[in-house]
Amino acid sequence: MNISFEKIVIKAKIQNRENDSGMDLQQMEYRRDPLTERICTVIIGFAEKLKILGEADRDLINRIAEATKKTCPFCPEAIEKVTPVFPKKYFPEGRIKTGESVLFPNLFPRSEFEAVAVLSKKHYLKLDEFTPELLANALKSCLIFISRIKEMGLSEKYATIGCNNLFPAGASSMHPHIQVSVRSVPFYINKILIEKSMKFFKSNGSNFWDELVTVEKESGERYIGNIGRTEWIVPFAPMGGNDVMCIIKHRSNLTEFSEEDLMDIGKGLSKILTYYEHDGLSSFNFVIHSGPINEKLEYFWSSLRIIPRANLREGYVSTDSWYGTSLLFEGVSSEYPEKQAEKIRAVFKTK
Ligand SMILES: [Zn+2]
Repeated sequence: MNISFEKIVIKAKIQNRENDSGMDLQQMEYRRDPLTERICTVIIGFAEKLKILGEADRDLINRIAEATKKTCPFCPEAIEKVTPVFPKKYFPEGRIKTGESVLFPNLFPRSEFEAVAVLSKKHYLKLDEFTPELLANALKSCLIFISRIKEMGLSEKYATIGCNNLFPAGASSMHPHIQVSVRSVPFYINKILIEKSMKFFKSNGSNFWDELVTVEKESGERYIGNIGRTEWIVPFAPMGGNDVMCIIKHRSNLTEFSEEDLMDIGKGLSKILTYYEHDGLSSFNFVIHSGPINEKLEYFWSSLRIIPRANLREGYVSTDSWYGTSLLFEGVSSEYPEKQAEKIRAVFKTK
C-alpha cells in the first residue's frame, strides 16, 4: 500500500473551574490528508458541545420560504421573464432545460463562462426532497453547457460544478440551484489535487484514487458504499463534520461523465442529504473536482465533496466559517470520521 493514514493523538489540559487543583483533558487527533497533507483536527466530544449552538429552526425556514417565493426569479412563473439568456450564436435555445432544471447565464459571473442551473419548480426543498432525478437533470444541464464550451475549442478548460444551499452555505436565493464555471486558469484546490495525484503516480506507478478506493473498501472503516461507478467514503481527514467524498472511477474530467454516472451521483447525493435531514441539518455545499476538460489524465479521477453548513436559525453561529477554515485551510471534525461513516452507511444502504 502506498497510501498512509497518519495521525497524532494529543491531549490539551484545561483548568477545571470547579476544582482549582483539577485539570480536564481534551483529547484530539491531528490527521493528515493522505494526498494534500491538509490537517484536520478531530476533537473528541466536541459534537456534544456543538449541540448548544442549536438545531435548524424549521418554522423560520418555512416563513422565509413563504416570504421570498413572491419575488423569486427562479420560480416557474418568473424564470422565463427575468433570467438572462445565452447568445444565440453559442446556445440557440437561449436556456438549457433538462427535466425540471433550467440553466441560464449567471448575472454575477466570476469565470469567463458561468451559469446557474435551477433544480426544481418548487421554491424550497427539504434536504430529503432532493431526488436523484432533480440532481441528475441539473448536473446534465451543466454538462451540456461545459461540452458546448469544449466544442468551441477555446482556452477555457478548467471546469467545476458547485452548490450552495441556504444562506449559511453562501446561497443568495433559497430556491434550490447549482452553479457551473469554466475558466482559463485552474481552480486552486483542483490544481493541488491534480499535481499531487501526478506526483503520487510518478512515485508509485499507480493512480492515487484507484488505490484509495481499494484501501478504503478493504478496511471498511470509512467506506459508505458504491453506486455504479461512484464510490462514497468519509475522508480520513475531513474538512468538517459529516464531510463525504464521492470518487467517480475512471473519469478524469466532467465531460467524460455518462448519463448513468450523473444518475448515480444524484442517487448518492440524495441519500447523503436524507442522512443530513435526519441528523437535523439544513444547509450544505458540494463541489465537483475535475481535471481539464480537453485531456484524459491517467493519474487523476474526478471527485465530489459534500459538507453540511451551520443550521439556519435566528442568530445562527457559523463556527464552520472561522479563520481556521477560511484562511488556514484547516479542517475540524467534531466526531471520529469512522463513527460518522457508520451512521451514514446505515441510511445509505436503506433508502
Ligand atoms: Zn423560487
